[in-house]
This record gives sequence, C-alpha cells and structure tokens, in this order.
Amino acid sequence: MIYLDHAASTPVDPRVAARMHAALVDPLAHGNPASSTHAPGRAAAAAIEAARAQVASLIGVPAEDLLFTSGATESDNLAVLGLARGRGDFGRHLVTSRTEHKAVLDACKRLVKEGHAVTWLEPEADGRIAPDALRAALRADTQLVSIMHANNETGVVQDVAALAAVCRERDVFFHTDAAQSAGKIPTHFLRDGIDLASVSAHKMYGPKGIGALYVAPRVRPWLLPLAFGGGQERGLRPGTLATHQIAGFGLAASLAAREQQHDADIAATCVRDFRAALAAVPGLRWNDHPTARLPGLVSLSVSDVEGESLLAQLPELALSSGAACDSSRGEPSYVLRALGVPAELAQSTLRISFGRGQTSKDAAIAAAMIREAIDTLRARYADPSADATWHTGVAGSQRIGTHVRCQLRVGGDGRVQKVRFSLYGCPHTQAVVTLLEARWPGLGLVADGRPDPALGAAADWAREVGAPVEKLGRMLVVEDAMRLATLAVIDAARGS
Ligand SMILES: *Cc1c(COP(=O)(O)O)cnc(C)c1O
Repeated sequence: MIYLDHAASTPVDPRVAARMHAALVDPLAHGNPASSTHAPGRAAAAAIEAARAQVASLIGVPAEDLLFTSGATESDNLAVLGLARGRGDFGRHLVTSRTEHKAVLDACKRLVKEGHAVTWLEPEADGRIAPDALRAALRADTQLVSIMHANNETGVVQDVAALAAVCRERDVFFHTDAAQSAGKIPTHFLRDGIDLASVSAHKMYGPKGIGALYVAPRVRPWLLPLAFGGGQERGLRPGTLATHQIAGFGLAASLAAREQQHDADIAATCVRDFRAALAAVPGLRWNDHPTARLPGLVSLSVSDVEGESLLAQLPELALSSGAACDSSRGEPSYVLRALGVPAELAQSTLRISFGRGQTSKDAAIAAAMIREAIDTLRARYADPSADATWHTGVAGSQRIGTHVRCQLRVGGDGRVQKVRFSLYGCPHTQAVVTLLEARWPGLGLVADGRPDPALGAAADWAREVGAPVEKLGRMLVVEDAMRLATLAVIDAARGS
C-alpha cells in the first residue's frame, strides 16, 4: 500500500509521537496547565507555552496571539462565526469563495440563516481569486473576508498578502484557512497583514484533534467565543488545554519549519516524475496550478473513465477521489466544478498528495498502476468492431455516470448466441454486465414479447451483485441498452 493522501492527513512523525508519549507519562507535567500554584501545573503550562512559540514561529505570528483549538475546523468556525457575530451590529456582510473548505462554507451558510449576507467569489480559470474581484465584492457593511491559503483539492495557493491588502484598504478583517499550507510552504501571516489564520497539526505530521487560530490584536475585541467555561485562551476557547497534543503539535511545527524546504524539494520531484510518467496518456486534465501550488499535491481528471471504477482499480494506492465524489450524495466536487471542470470529468478525479519520506520510486509505481487502471477501464468502454451479425443498443451517458453499449448475436433458432457489453460505469454495474454476458447466451431473445424471464430484471441483478438501492437507476440503464439491442435484432429480421 502506497500512502498518497497526505492532504487528508499525514502520519504522525515518530519524533512527534515520542514527544507526546513523554508529555503523557512525565510526572512533572501531569498537572492542569491552569494550576499555577504547584510545579506539575507550571510544568504543563511551560510545555504549552513552548509549543505555542513553535507553532507561532512556523506561521510568522507573535506567540501571544495564537490560541489552541481542536483543529482547523474549529478554528475556521471560531474565526467566521465569532467575528461575524461579534461585528453584527456594524454590518452583516461577508465575502468568501466557492472553493473553500466545508468548515468555512458551512459556517457561512449558518450565518445566512442568522441574517447575514454572503458574497461567493468565483475563482479564475487557474483557481486563484483576483484581488480586483475581491475589491469589487466589498461593501460598506462587509465585516470579514475568508479566503483559504492553499486549496485541499487542487493545491492552488492564493496570494493572501494581496487579498489581505485589499481588505486593509477598506478596514475589513481577513481570515485565511492555512491548514494545507502551514508546514508545506513558507507562511508569514503577520507580515502579510492577515488578521485570522487557521492551522491543523495533523496536516503537518502532528496528531489529529489539535489546531490553532491566529487572532491579530486588532480583531480580538470583536471575536465572540463559541464555547464558555474556565476562561482559558483569553476566554476565546475555554477548556483544559491538552498538554500532550499541544506538545506534539509544537514539535511537529518546529520540525516542519526546519525541514519544509527539504520536504518540498522531494515532494516536487515526486510530482514531476509522476506527471512525466503519465505524460503520454491521452485525455488527462491536470487541475493544479503550474506555479502557485503546494509542492506535493496533484489533481488529475481522467476522461472516458468512471470515477468509482477508477478508484476500485487502484486498491494498492491510498488516495482520494479529490473529494470528487462526495460519496454520500454522489455529487461531483464543487471545487472542481467552480474551476470549470465538466461534471463527467470532475467525477473521475484523483488527488495524489506525496509526503515526507516518499521517493521517486513511489511516484513511478503509482503512475504505472494508474496508467494500467485507465487502460483497463477504457478498453472495457471501447466500441468493439462489429460486423452486420451484431446488433447494438446504447443507453445512458457519461454525464449520468453510466453509459452502456449492449451487442447481441442471435442464431437462426432465435436464441442469443453471444452477448457483449462495453461499459462506462461503476463496479457494481460492471459486475452486472459480466453476469449478463454469461447468463444470456442460450436463452431466447424474448418470451411473450418481453426479455426472457430467466435473465431476471434490474432489481434482481442489483441484489445479486450486492449493489445498494440507490444504484438501481444504473441497472435500469443496462436494461434499456439490452432492450434496444433486442429491438435492433427484431427490426433487422423484419427488414430482411
Ligand atoms: C483538513 C482541513 C481542514 C480541517 O482540519 P481539521 O483539523 O481536520 O479539523 C480545514 N481546512 C482545510 C483546508 C483542510 O485541509
């Protein structure tokens, strides 16, 4: 198994795990960091402050302006909801982009329910937000702009300094989700004039469940907390701080600061070799930016290949479909759609993210496997050469995810001699056509004007291959193609 999903989560660096273990077992640091009256409490507090300095240094902000959260999701929520609510008396308008992480998008949608207005910026064709487009979207009542630093699906990096400068001109606060960029590319959020920045430990070889939010002093009075309690983290994020998580996060950040250039050089080599190995494959669309990009991430859309089948052909690669198909809803990625990638291409997208410790060898193996998977699936979809003895029925479309060609050859006795399908479709649909190719020969073409009942019907096939009910529609496309092929045979017999 090759792990190519570092954009979803990175493994914990062994040095970080050791640091966390030490923090958990150290009797000198098992106090509550808020307990300043005894040594174990003060030791825990010291470990936390050391880590705060390490994380702050990585992103170029003063340590006292960084607060710990449970991750970038919470940081995004606190920034967007906290500021919009805190500034609600001054205006209720926000600006963000269509390609943000759900943690920002859904927080904005929540604010709409609370009476705020949101302007959703569209990225340019290259995935970047133009500063002029942002300037044009600002209104007298705009309180906050939230634009991510690096996109989690495409790796496109925004010019946050330029976007923040536009906000400064108009005295609007600027938040950036830096979960993907921190630790992978240089970040200088104080210098760049950023007011709020979200980061996450598990995207930089630290533990899951810990993150941070940078809050510039000028923003702090306006930020309303989401939780209430013991007053920790300036009252903005109360609750006992997780000493071991934070200690691990701190070390992860300091390792990233030291090794990020080295990591980036290697990741860029992996990406370069990966792309070169696939350069001769036709019908590929690369969704990442040529220069403004995360070093280790590539997003690749493949034509004439169905997305779910593509992933199913790659069991030895741990990668993401580029959030291409939100599997619960079956919708293609909103990020790719916003970039102008057609739906049928967006749904067959692979996001490959290389990480620490990987080499060109991993890139070469992954590229070879992907190439083979593409060849296999395209061969199944290719139109086989057919002479007049074959009768064809075609149904569905790539756009709806299933495109089937059914071809029949029928003997003088009216029985089916041979059946072949070519398919663009999911693995369940593939299993159904394979089953039918074996089952149909020898049966009558029709019985009483209907398909031979021994074939079964769409619902039976779905059950036989273990397909979930929501896939019944795809089985019906197969049935349509079979019916059209049958009609073609009947028509031909009439004509002759
Ligand atoms: C991973 C990620 C998040 C969520 O971070 P968690 O720490 O898992 O909550 C938010 N935004 C972006 C861009 C991410 O990549």
